[in-house]
Amino acid sequence: MVGHQHNYMENKTIIFASNSKEKTSELKLILSSYHVLTLNDIGFFDEIEETGTTFLENATIKAEAVKNFLGDKYNGEYILADDSGLCVDALNGAPGVYSARLSGDHDVKANRQKLLSMMEGITNRNAHFACCIVCLKDDKKLVCEGRCEGKILTYVDTQGGFAYDCIFYSNDLKKSFGVATKQEKNSVSHRGRALDKLVKAINNF
Ligand code: IMP
Repeated sequence: MVGHQHNYMENKTIIFASNSKEKTSELKLILSSYHVLTLNDIGFFDEIEETGTTFLENATIKAEAVKNFLGDKYNGEYILADDSGLCVDALNGAPGVYSARLSGDHDVKANRQKLLSMMEGITNRNAHFACCIVCLKDDKKLVCEGRCEGKILTYVDTQGGFAYDCIFYSNDLKKSFGVATKQEKNSVSHRGRALDKLVKAINNF
Protein backbone atom coordinates (compact mmCIF):
# COMPACT_ATOMS: atom_id res chain seq x y z
CA MET A 1 0.00 0.00 0.00
CA VAL A 2 1.00 3.57 -0.62
CA GLY A 3 0.85 4.24 3.11
CA HIS A 4 4.08 2.27 3.51
CA GLN A 5 5.77 3.64 0.41
CA HIS A 6 5.54 7.36 0.88
CA ASN A 7 7.54 7.41 4.07
CA TYR A 8 10.75 6.72 2.23
CA MET A 9 9.97 7.45 -1.42
CA GLU A 10 8.16 10.74 -1.03
CA ASN A 11 8.76 12.67 -4.23
CA LYS A 12 10.25 9.96 -6.42
CA THR A 13 7.20 7.74 -6.54
CA ILE A 14 5.01 7.46 -9.61
CA ILE A 15 1.61 5.84 -9.22
CA PHE A 16 0.65 4.59 -12.68
CA ALA A 17 -3.10 4.25 -13.28
CA SER A 18 -2.73 0.98 -15.17
CA ASN A 19 -2.06 -2.71 -14.66
CA SER A 20 -0.63 -3.22 -18.14
CA LYS A 21 2.65 -5.15 -17.81
CA GLU A 22 3.95 -3.82 -21.14
CA LYS A 23 3.25 -0.17 -20.38
CA THR A 24 4.57 -0.45 -16.82
CA SER A 25 7.87 -2.02 -17.86
CA GLU A 26 8.28 0.64 -20.57
CA LEU A 27 7.69 3.35 -17.97
CA LYS A 28 10.12 1.78 -15.49
CA LEU A 29 12.77 1.56 -18.18
CA ILE A 30 12.45 5.17 -19.26
CA LEU A 31 12.04 6.63 -15.73
CA SER A 32 14.43 4.29 -13.97
CA SER A 33 15.23 6.64 -11.09
CA TYR A 34 11.57 6.65 -10.05
CA HIS A 35 9.71 4.05 -8.02
CA VAL A 36 6.70 2.97 -10.12
CA LEU A 37 3.58 1.55 -8.48
CA THR A 38 0.61 0.11 -10.41
CA LEU A 39 -3.08 0.03 -9.49
CA ASN A 40 -2.65 -3.46 -8.04
CA ASP A 41 0.24 -2.22 -5.89
CA ILE A 42 -1.94 0.43 -4.24
CA GLY A 43 -4.92 -1.89 -3.80
CA PHE A 44 -7.10 -0.20 -6.42
CA PHE A 45 -9.17 -2.95 -8.02
CA ASP A 46 -12.21 -1.06 -9.34
CA GLU A 47 -12.87 -0.74 -13.06
CA ILE A 48 -12.34 2.88 -14.17
CA GLU A 49 -15.03 3.79 -16.70
CA GLU A 50 -13.56 5.68 -19.64
CA THR A 51 -16.51 7.96 -20.36
CA GLY A 52 -14.55 10.76 -22.06
CA THR A 53 -14.69 11.65 -25.74
CA THR A 54 -11.01 12.61 -26.02
CA PHE A 55 -7.75 10.95 -24.99
CA LEU A 56 -7.07 13.87 -22.66
CA GLU A 57 -10.45 13.44 -20.94
CA ASN A 58 -9.97 9.70 -20.46
CA ALA A 59 -6.40 10.03 -19.17
CA THR A 60 -7.59 12.73 -16.75
CA ILE A 61 -10.49 10.53 -15.57
CA LYS A 62 -8.05 7.69 -14.80
CA ALA A 63 -5.53 9.92 -12.98
CA GLU A 64 -8.23 11.66 -10.93
CA ALA A 65 -9.84 8.35 -9.99
CA VAL A 66 -6.53 7.35 -8.40
CA LYS A 67 -6.13 10.70 -6.64
CA ASN A 68 -9.66 10.41 -5.19
CA PHE A 69 -9.00 6.82 -4.14
CA LEU A 70 -5.87 7.87 -2.25
CA GLY A 71 -7.69 10.69 -0.46
CA ASP A 72 -5.89 11.56 2.77
CA LYS A 73 -3.14 9.07 1.97
CA TYR A 74 -1.97 11.19 -0.97
CA ASN A 75 1.47 12.50 -0.13
CA GLY A 76 2.85 14.31 -3.14
CA GLU A 77 3.46 11.30 -5.38
CA TYR A 78 3.24 11.70 -9.17
CA ILE A 79 0.00 10.18 -10.45
CA LEU A 80 0.26 9.17 -14.07
CA ALA A 81 -2.34 7.93 -16.57
CA ASP A 82 -2.35 7.47 -20.30
CA ASP A 83 -4.89 6.92 -23.01
CA SER A 84 -4.29 6.12 -26.64
CA GLY A 85 -5.87 4.94 -29.85
CA LEU A 86 -5.93 4.88 -33.61
CA CYS A 87 -7.54 7.74 -35.58
CA VAL A 88 -8.40 7.26 -39.26
CA ASP A 89 -8.85 10.36 -41.46
CA ALA A 90 -11.48 8.87 -43.78
CA LEU A 91 -13.52 7.80 -40.72
CA ASN A 92 -13.42 11.29 -39.17
CA GLY A 93 -10.94 10.17 -36.51
CA ALA A 94 -12.65 6.87 -35.60
CA PRO A 95 -12.14 4.53 -33.83
CA GLY A 96 -10.20 7.03 -31.61
CA VAL A 97 -11.10 6.65 -27.94
CA TYR A 98 -13.17 3.59 -28.88
CA SER A 99 -10.18 1.71 -30.40
CA ALA A 100 -10.27 -1.06 -27.79
CA ARG A 101 -14.03 -1.47 -28.17
CA LEU A 102 -14.54 -1.18 -31.94
CA SER A 103 -16.14 -4.59 -32.31
CA GLY A 104 -17.96 -4.34 -29.00
CA ASP A 105 -15.32 -5.74 -26.69
CA HIS A 106 -11.57 -5.98 -26.26
CA ASP A 107 -11.07 -8.70 -28.91
CA VAL A 108 -8.06 -7.34 -30.84
CA LYS A 109 -8.46 -9.66 -33.81
CA ALA A 110 -12.14 -8.80 -34.25
CA ASN A 111 -11.31 -5.08 -33.90
CA ARG A 112 -8.70 -5.36 -36.66
CA GLN A 113 -11.07 -7.19 -39.00
CA LYS A 114 -13.84 -4.70 -38.29
CA LEU A 115 -11.56 -1.77 -39.17
CA LEU A 116 -10.39 -3.46 -42.37
CA SER A 117 -13.99 -4.02 -43.43
CA MET A 118 -14.93 -0.41 -42.58
CA MET A 119 -12.05 0.68 -44.84
CA GLU A 120 -13.03 -1.51 -47.80
CA GLY A 121 -13.02 0.52 -51.02
CA ILE A 122 -11.64 3.64 -49.29
CA THR A 123 -8.54 4.99 -51.00
CA ASN A 124 -7.55 7.60 -48.41
CA ARG A 125 -5.83 5.30 -45.89
CA ASN A 126 -4.16 8.06 -43.81
CA ALA A 127 -4.27 7.51 -40.05
CA HIS A 128 -2.36 8.25 -36.87
CA PHE A 129 -1.91 6.75 -33.44
CA ALA A 130 -2.30 9.25 -30.60
CA CYS A 131 -1.31 9.05 -26.96
CA CYS A 132 -2.03 11.43 -24.11
CA ILE A 133 -0.27 11.17 -20.76
CA VAL A 134 -1.60 13.10 -17.80
CA CYS A 135 0.57 13.57 -14.73
CA LEU A 136 -0.86 15.00 -11.51
CA LYS A 137 1.23 16.24 -8.61
CA ASP A 138 -0.37 18.10 -5.72
CA ASP A 139 -2.61 20.63 -7.51
CA LYS A 140 -0.61 20.65 -10.74
CA LYS A 141 -1.38 18.85 -14.00
CA LEU A 142 1.12 18.09 -16.76
CA VAL A 143 -0.09 16.90 -20.18
CA CYS A 144 2.24 15.21 -22.68
CA GLU A 145 0.97 14.17 -26.10
CA GLY A 146 2.51 12.19 -28.90
CA ARG A 147 1.37 10.99 -32.29
CA CYS A 148 2.71 9.04 -35.22
CA GLU A 149 1.48 9.19 -38.78
CA GLY A 150 0.84 6.30 -41.11
CA LYS A 151 -1.61 4.42 -43.30
CA ILE A 152 -4.06 1.58 -42.79
CA LEU A 153 -2.91 -1.40 -44.83
CA THR A 154 -5.40 -3.36 -46.93
CA TYR A 155 -4.15 -6.62 -45.38
CA VAL A 156 -2.75 -7.95 -42.08
CA ASP A 157 1.05 -7.75 -42.24
CA THR A 158 1.90 -10.41 -39.65
CA GLN A 159 -0.03 -12.11 -36.88
CA GLY A 160 2.42 -10.63 -34.35
CA GLY A 161 2.43 -7.14 -32.84
CA PHE A 162 -0.10 -5.59 -30.53
CA ALA A 163 -3.72 -4.80 -31.53
CA TYR A 164 -3.71 -2.63 -34.68
CA ASP A 165 0.10 -2.81 -35.16
CA CYS A 166 -0.05 -5.25 -38.06
CA ILE A 167 -2.43 -3.16 -40.15
CA PHE A 168 -0.61 0.15 -39.51
CA TYR A 169 2.11 1.24 -41.93
CA SER A 170 4.41 3.76 -40.21
CA ASN A 171 5.46 6.70 -42.38
CA ASP A 172 8.55 7.14 -40.18
CA LEU A 173 9.75 3.53 -40.32
CA LYS A 174 8.53 2.88 -43.89
CA LYS A 175 7.14 -0.45 -42.72
CA SER A 176 4.29 -1.71 -40.58
CA PHE A 177 4.43 -1.72 -36.78
CA GLY A 178 3.66 -5.43 -37.07
CA VAL A 179 7.11 -6.19 -38.47
CA ALA A 180 9.05 -3.48 -36.58
CA THR A 181 11.17 -4.39 -33.56
CA LYS A 182 10.13 -3.02 -30.17
CA GLN A 183 12.99 -0.52 -30.24
CA GLU A 184 12.08 0.67 -33.74
CA LYS A 185 8.46 1.12 -32.77
CA ASN A 186 9.26 2.90 -29.48
CA SER A 187 11.56 5.35 -31.28
CA VAL A 188 8.69 6.75 -33.38
CA SER A 189 5.51 5.65 -31.63
CA HIS A 190 2.83 7.91 -30.15
CA ARG A 191 3.53 6.51 -26.67
CA GLY A 192 7.30 6.75 -27.12
CA ARG A 193 6.98 10.39 -28.15
CA ALA A 194 4.64 11.27 -25.29
CA LEU A 195 6.98 9.52 -22.84
CA ASP A 196 9.98 11.45 -24.23
CA LYS A 197 8.17 14.69 -23.47
CA LEU A 198 7.27 13.43 -20.00
CA VAL A 199 10.87 12.52 -19.18
CA LYS A 200 12.03 16.01 -20.17
CA ALA A 201 9.27 17.76 -18.22
CA ILE A 202 8.80 15.68 -15.06
CA ASN A 203 11.93 16.78 -13.20
CA ASN A 204 10.90 20.43 -13.32
CA PHE A 205 7.24 19.79 -12.68
P1 IMP B 1 -5.29 2.12 -24.05
O1 IMP B 1 -4.43 3.32 -24.17
O2 IMP B 1 -4.61 1.03 -23.29
O3 IMP B 1 -6.66 2.45 -23.55
O4 IMP B 1 -5.42 1.51 -25.52
C1 IMP B 1 -6.45 1.82 -26.38
C2 IMP B 1 -6.49 0.94 -27.59
O5 IMP B 1 -5.89 1.63 -28.69
C3 IMP B 1 -5.76 -0.39 -27.51
O6 IMP B 1 -6.54 -1.38 -26.94
C4 IMP B 1 -5.49 -0.66 -28.97
O7 IMP B 1 -6.64 -1.17 -29.57
C5 IMP B 1 -5.22 0.72 -29.53
N1 IMP B 1 -3.77 1.04 -29.46
C6 IMP B 1 -3.18 1.96 -28.68
N2 IMP B 1 -1.85 1.98 -28.88
C7 IMP B 1 -1.60 1.03 -29.81
C8 IMP B 1 -0.39 0.57 -30.43
O8 IMP B 1 0.73 1.02 -30.15
N3 IMP B 1 -0.54 -0.42 -31.34
C9 IMP B 1 -1.73 -0.95 -31.69
N4 IMP B 1 -2.88 -0.56 -31.13
C10 IMP B 1 -2.83 0.42 -30.19
